[in-house]
Amino acid sequence: MKESGKNYKRIVIKIGSSLFCSSAQKIDFDIFNAIAGQVAELAKSGKDVIVVSSGAIALGMHLLGLKSRPRELAFLQAAAAVGQNELMDIYRDFFKARGYHGAQVLLTREDFNDRSRYLNAKNTLNALLNLGSIPVINENDTVSTDEIKFGDNDRLSALVATLVSADILIILSDVDGLLDKDRKTVIRLVDEITPEIKRLACPTDKKACVGGMITKLEAAKIAVDSGIPCVIANGLKKDIIISAIQAPEESGTLFLSKRGLDARKRWIAFGTKTKGKIVIDDGARNALKNKKSLLSVGITSIEGNFNAGDIVSVYDADGNEFARGKADISAKQLKEIKGMRYHKEIMHCDNIVIL
Ligand code: GLU
Repeated sequence: MKESGKNYKRIVIKIGSSLFCSSAQKIDFDIFNAIAGQVAELAKSGKDVIVVSSGAIALGMHLLGLKSRPRELAFLQAAAAVGQNELMDIYRDFFKARGYHGAQVLLTREDFNDRSRYLNAKNTLNALLNLGSIPVINENDTVSTDEIKFGDNDRLSALVATLVSADILIILSDVDGLLDKDRKTVIRLVDEITPEIKRLACPTDKKACVGGMITKLEAAKIAVDSGIPCVIANGLKKDIIISAIQAPEESGTLFLSKRGLDARKRWIAFGTKTKGKIVIDDGARNALKNKKSLLSVGITSIEGNFNAGDIVSVYDADGNEFARGKADISAKQLKEIKGMRYHKEIMHCDNIVIL
């Protein structure tokens, strides 16, 4: 499937902190200007552009004169509060100079877990795009603690791309793309994220390890599994965003998209945190893979305390999570009938996604 020349209407761009800060002491403001210029150019040509930008902590450290990342959570969150304000200030000025409003959107994992909050976030982003503004999203670092964290902005950008049904996700950092085994050649095209591809992000020689490529690959996987192609490219290159859209294969590493999942299934698969685990036997696994519903007879064990309506992970007998779906029955009730015949489906085939 060739991507060059495709008309991407809705674009999510992730900006990593490494682009503008090599250390907390030095911030490169020109990069923001270059990014805002390209984003505005795309918006002028009728594209919907959403920016997911890191930098709250880095800028906070810079402003507060902190040489190392605070270890204590309260100080880390305080630094993020100072830095997020600065981050938006920078984007606001550069966008304003080009006739656009930058709109701050701060999200936590919780906003995605709950389906109505998820839809609400989607409606707000759509409204911002309709108003001709440029949403600039970050994790709400000042209030996010481990349990409600996305973890990293690569993942957040992929979830945002699935939320808004983007046509392409562009992840920018200071590396040229995914490097091959020689650690020099950029792999231009990945049509499937195989274990071999994943190993490239995690070489045995730790010193040569490219920081952050693992989370980028995980983000790329969420995107491509949702039907969205993803480019990992070097944001320091001139006009990289424009070239990534015109010729994605040539500008970094392009990950080709797989099947397109509809919006609801994307939420089941990636949007929300699963509330429990159901382990099933080989017969039930084959049935699920053949688009059948999950019946209690094939269930061997249950973990977690989910309620009817919650999204639950489905594991095979070898311990691999291979599907997610909406349970129509609570964990408590299911424990009583697992392995037995029961008159109702446990998960309806329409609510199951094979990963
Ligand atoms: N949200 C963090 C920040 O703005 C960055 C997280 C990340 O880059 O993965 O500092």
